[in-house]
Amino acid sequence: MAEALVVDHPLVELRDVTRSFPGPPEVQALKSVNLQVHAGDYVSIVGPSGSGKSTMLNILGLVDRPSVGEYRLAGTLTGNLDEAGRSALRASRIGFVFQAFHLLPRRSVLENVVLPMLYNATPRAEREDRARAALDRVGMSHRLGAGPATLSGGERQRVAVARAVASRPDLLLADEPTGNLDERTTADVMDLLEDLHSDGIAVVVITHDRDVADRADRALRITDGRLSVLR
Ligand code: ADP
Ligand code: MG
Repeated sequence: MAEALVVDHPLVELRDVTRSFPGPPEVQALKSVNLQVHAGDYVSIVGPSGSGKSTMLNILGLVDRPSVGEYRLAGTLTGNLDEAGRSALRASRIGFVFQAFHLLPRRSVLENVVLPMLYNATPRAEREDRARAALDRVGMSHRLGAGPATLSGGERQRVAVARAVASRPDLLLADEPTGNLDERTTADVMDLLEDLHSDGIAVVVITHDRDVADRADRALRITDGRLSVLR
């Protein structure tokens, strides 16, 4: 039997990625960024407002594209994909958590976690089971029928985390996940992300909170679109 040629790529690889927004004046939100994230890594990225953090996360999340440079995700050169290919790759590999939770206000907790699975490869028969398991994991199974408006900020973020991981992505991208939370709830949500990380999911957390950044195994800094190693 012929042996397969296995090339071992990192989960995430940015090569000389620049993202320019045409002006005037033109803004280079990312400047020649190089980054590798391996399966199971836990990385934080800190930087002041306007430094390019969200731009970076949008590119990693296949929501935006580099103007220059390459992004390879799980071995796939994403620049070669059309929108359908990008959506499919995003849905199968990536979970997002946002500062403002972004839950659907007219849907129940359970529906909020089930609905995104309509757009990925999760088999129909497994969607609800996986959603229930994810909500159990984040300690929200007692509120399955509740509307998001009846939940506290910390509870909403727990539901958002369940939504992000229910389809078992390899990469969890969090953009200021604790930005709307108080200190105690921040610690709870970070404990939860770390709990998921210990199951093998790679976590990239963008934050301007140094305490949150310090919890990661590797800390990076972004300043004026340039990425550097903090620790
Ligand atoms: P951060 O998340 O660190 O606050 P962003 O990535 O949102 O920073 O923005 C980085 C820079 O790029 C800022 O100067 C911002 O004004 C600019 N920028 C971001 N998105 C756009 C856009 N769609 N069009 C023009 N400029 C943008
Ligand atoms: Mg931002």
